[in-house]
Amino acid sequence: MFTARRTQRSKVCEDEGVGVMPDCIFCKIVNGDIPSTRVFENEYVFAFRDISPQAPVHILVVPKDHIASSIAELSEDNSHFAAKCLEAIAIIAKNEKLSGGFRVISNSGPDSGQTVSHLHFHILGGKPLGAGLVNN
Ligand code: AMP
Ligand code: ZN
Repeated sequence: MFTARRTQRSKVCEDEGVGVMPDCIFCKIVNGDIPSTRVFENEYVFAFRDISPQAPVHILVVPKDHIASSIAELSEDNSHFAAKCLEAIAIIAKNEKLSGGFRVISNSGPDSGQTVSHLHFHILGGKPLGAGLVNN
């Protein structure tokens, strides 16, 4: 397992007064306090393999800074961090050779089954995933 090197917070985040949330597992992964298997990193985004993969490729893409607990907290002020995640997803999909396609999921709130309250996007792929989006 790779331990993320401690990364500087982005200048943008410092200016906007957002950062690290104590006791947040994804903040700890970004800071290197919890090991992870990194697949991508830039100034804004950190991506790593899900510890409990639900497909041959299962990657979590998170903003480095704790800018929102989920999509429900996005607004005009912070949605550019989500856009950075989507840009990273396009790069990661190419790197992972997901030319057959992939699925992106972002859980938000209890009904979605969200377990970690740091905005994140799941990339799932590596096999045909089927048409259904919800387990009934
Ligand atoms: P969600 O249920 O949408 O909040 O997704 C949280 C995801 O984080 C789950 O798929 C977990 O398997 C994953 N996860 C939890 N802890 C870790 C960890 N230490 N390293 C990698 N993935 C993790
Ligand atoms: Zn966090």
